[in-house]
Amino acid sequence: MDKTSDQKVGIIGGGIMGISLGYFLSKQGVKVTIYEASPVLGGLAGPIVLEDGTEVDRFYHAILSSDRHLSDLCKELGIHDQLRFKETKTGFYYKGAIHPMNNIIEFLKFPPLGWIDRFRLGLTVLAAQFVRDWKSLESISVQSWLLKWSGPGTFHNIWRPMLKAKFDGGFDNVPATWIWSRLVRMKSTREGANQKEMAGHLIGGYITLIKAMTEKIKANGGEVLLKTPIKEIVIENGKATGVRLTNGEVANYDKVVCTMQAPIFQRLIPSADQKYREYLSKQDYLGIIAPLLVLDRPLSGNWTLNITDDRFPFTGVIETTAYIDPKYVGGYHLVYLPKYTAPGSSWQQKTDDEIKAIWLENLQAMFPAFDPKSIRYFLIHRERYVEPLHGLNETNSIPAVKTPVANLYLATTSQIYPALTNGESVSRHAREASEIILQEK
Ligand SMILES: Cc1cc2nc3c(=O)[nH]c(=O)nc-3n(C[C@H](O)[C@H](O)[C@H](O)COP(=O)(O)OP(=O)(O)OC[C@H]3O[C@@H](n4cnc5c(N)ncnc54)[C@H](O)[C@@H]3O)c2cc1C
Repeated sequence: MDKTSDQKVGIIGGGIMGISLGYFLSKQGVKVTIYEASPVLGGLAGPIVLEDGTEVDRFYHAILSSDRHLSDLCKELGIHDQLRFKETKTGFYYKGAIHPMNNIIEFLKFPPLGWIDRFRLGLTVLAAQFVRDWKSLESISVQSWLLKWSGPGTFHNIWRPMLKAKFDGGFDNVPATWIWSRLVRMKSTREGANQKEMAGHLIGGYITLIKAMTEKIKANGGEVLLKTPIKEIVIENGKATGVRLTNGEVANYDKVVCTMQAPIFQRLIPSADQKYREYLSKQDYLGIIAPLLVLDRPLSGNWTLNITDDRFPFTGVIETTAYIDPKYVGGYHLVYLPKYTAPGSSWQQKTDDEIKAIWLENLQAMFPAFDPKSIRYFLIHRERYVEPLHGLNETNSIPAVKTPVANLYLATTSQIYPALTNGESVSRHAREASEIILQEK
């Protein structure tokens, strides 16, 4: 099996990771088969169809103008002309009012902070850009780092409520790398001398990219199977030899790659070493409850409203039609009100009706002029494994692409660190994983 073209690889998962991986491997002549459990591709980045037939993103997704890998990939696939970018607005909700936060003047007017605090907040953003060795931040808690650069005033008025909301309570074990990667990524969207913030999307959403890669995979002789959940990865004498479908049928491969989150992966390998399985099951993730309001008019026109008031259940107000022209989403205005949830959070026990009632009451409190008649659809989406969590000094406990089982590989979001997990980093990671897989004879 020397030539890559002789290799047959089975890939489990048809999200951005699985499809990107299939694309990069098939470009090298590998025959790939991708198994996706659900009837649609895309996973977390996939679409949903509204009752009237309009397709929209299940979760909010922005592409940034600094996403170089994605931009190059879109060029390679001939869909670069489907990318749209727009200048966006961001604000803070503080003590009953929305405060725009788009330029230095607005920043200097931000009421909860005194002059020294504002200066220190600016310094924090700057300090992050000058960090050369992120490893030095791994053993420092996000709280200590922010207190050091922003000072107690800014920490208590801004950072603390935002961190509390994001981590659904505790953030003692969160390393400073978490805020560092965010500050660097958000700064990268600000372009030109006036530092205008730009956000973008592909017309149709990430599914446009996924479909384009799927076509190439098929043209390269690969297969993409929907509604085909894998029940188990077949391991014989310490080697992965194939996958077992839910009907018991087995398909044999030279190599098998799982692209799902680590706790899901460990369920598919019941015969693997128990210690390895336990280690995978301990990888932590934030979950999410993300109500989507499909409105007939704009809400605030801000892409993101950060909420610095922890009485509100949602982490932010994200209006994607601030950068997606409503003409691409049936003329609607899309507002997502996410609540990130810690493992075991009681929020995930609440019913959809309870969530809807609590969310609407709080939205009305935040926007007194909001007219509930503007809601065309109110949809609630939840997921358990969304954002990988890495604690202080935990780089060494990140699972590797090459697993202890011969011919079995894992390409998953928790391996992406300290970068944030998004289409850019996931697809780039898939390319790197494809190189590791190809190297192995
Ligand atoms: C609320 C939210 C906001 C986000 N915002 C952004 C953003 O603004 N910009 C951005 O770029 N990214 C954003 N992301 C991140 C992005 O969506 C993810 O990083 C990316 O989609 C992860 O892709 P994946 O393929 O690794 O995992 P997934 O999308 O989880 O894919 C895994 C796939 O495996 C399938 N599967 C599971 N079990 C089986 C089985 N047994 N057999 C076969 N298939 C199986 C699942 O159905 C799924 O399709 C956001 C994500 C969320 C949730």
